[in-house]
Amino acid sequence: MYVIIKCRKCGRYLYADQDNKTRQCVCGAVIKLKNAVVYDSAATEREAGDKVRALQEGESMGDHFSFHTFNK
Ligand SMILES: [Zn+2]
Repeated sequence: MYVIIKCRKCGRYLYADQDNKTRQCVCGAVIKLKNAVVYDSAATEREAGDKVRALQEGESMGDHFSFHTFNK
């Protein structure tokens, strides 16, 4: 089981094996899983990666901007 968490320092979404106690972000911050807010969970690492990507994209696009306008 994997959990989707967010780094408090840089705001990136990350996934971590639920059995782990900590997860280190690419920015260097170490997140304690028991203190982290869990946004989602996934059964496989691949699914977890997809969910992280979807969350990250949703956040960086925001509400005022959408790629759909370019796909007509
Ligand atoms: Zn970070």
